[in-house]
Amino acid sequence: MRSPQAQLPAIHRLLAHPRLVAARGLHGAGQVLTAAREAVATARQQLASGAPAPALDDLVERALAALAARARSAYPSVLNATGVLVHTNLGRAPRRTVETGRYLALEVDLETGERGERLGPVVDRLIRYFGCEAATVVTNNAAALVLLLAARAARRQVVVSRGELVEIGGSFRLPEIMAAAGADLVEVGCTNRTRTDDYARAIGPDTAALLVVHRSNFHMDGFVSSPGLDELVALARERGVEVWVDQGSGCHLDLSVYGLRREPTVREILATGAEIVLFSGDKLLGGAQAGILVGTAAAIEPLRGHPLRRALRPDKSVLAALAATLDAHLAERHDEVPLYRLLAVSQADLRRRARRLAARLRRAGVAASIVATRSVVGGGTTPDQSLPSWGLALRGGQGLARRLRDQAVPVVGRVEEGHVILDLRAVFEDEDALLLASVVAAVAGEP
Ligand SMILES: *Cc1c(COP(=O)(O)O)cnc(C)c1O
Repeated sequence: MRSPQAQLPAIHRLLAHPRLVAARGLHGAGQVLTAAREAVATARQQLASGAPAPALDDLVERALAALAARARSAYPSVLNATGVLVHTNLGRAPRRTVETGRYLALEVDLETGERGERLGPVVDRLIRYFGCEAATVVTNNAAALVLLLAARAARRQVVVSRGELVEIGGSFRLPEIMAAAGADLVEVGCTNRTRTDDYARAIGPDTAALLVVHRSNFHMDGFVSSPGLDELVALARERGVEVWVDQGSGCHLDLSVYGLRREPTVREILATGAEIVLFSGDKLLGGAQAGILVGTAAAIEPLRGHPLRRALRPDKSVLAALAATLDAHLAERHDEVPLYRLLAVSQADLRRRARRLAARLRRAGVAASIVATRSVVGGGTTPDQSLPSWGLALRGGQGLARRLRDQAVPVVGRVEEGHVILDLRAVFEDEDALLLASVVAAVAGEP
């Protein structure tokens, strides 16, 4: 009997196959060689566990499939049919990325030709939009907190309620961030209740600030209480320390307009007298990933000279995008920001689109029904709330969900009780035709 090895073709025979020869032009000879070797190695393992030897053409197919998978865009655009508007795994707030491939006036004053201030245009817009004295921007909110603590509270104490020692997704844990930044965490109160008095007793000569952290991704109910921000500010004033608020979500307008509960906006928090408010640029602001700090000049100025600010500075495309988002909000054209366009779509419109899609799917031979569903904003915002929405229900489970993700235009949905639910809340109307095509292809390809 021939050894298992001998049943497999030699690599050079595989490489001489016309389709793999042709593939070199597109993928390069090195990648083709790697894919051929991997196809043979996989087949060898399968042989060892008793599978039959594949034909030469099969191995070529497998190598070509591996090359095609690798050639797919590193970060493909997807249709978000999850019903989660600010979806951390899908890049939080949606953004139309425009890469012009050209230079931009990043650090030059076009009038004088002199060197300009890189963050200037964004800072100027932040000051106007939030009505504050000073502002700055770094790569994300975690970085904003690190910079703030390192610049203002290194080897000093920062007082935080035990009810606010949060973990945000992606390994942001407040006590660990504070330790990394060199600040001394002083915990006060209990998980469910913290009083102004608890803060008062904790303030000492080494205290830099009281830090209030928004419970972005969980909700507490029952025997709970925490002091109002104005009480904390009054206490802090009296004792000569500052109040910093990690507001996280960047809520900046009245959410009840969109059917959500109102929550304090950045402006309202600043109005209580808190010295600094920090938040993400890609949550409820609906912009690019960034960490934004707004507040008084005295509190923010010391951050300017800190070496970490240079290490944490955002990319030019982020700054340009953030400025554009702020311009839309400043002009009260919130619906120009994609997140708000999605939030503003009426239930009637979602239902009409679901019906039209279901009818078209049925004409294409795909059984689909429309379902009333509930969407969430998500991404560490409005944790206990949802919005009514409409979607499609397709019979199927994880298999169909995977096929939908495998399409040229991937669709990400959710599986519920033997159905794949495609919530239309976070699908732009001009994506409906793409959604239809991907669903038809995914269902047709089902085993
Ligand atoms: C989201 C969030 C963070 C982390 O923000 P990133 O921009 O992801 O770094 C920190 N604190 C709070 C309260 C948050 O909600």
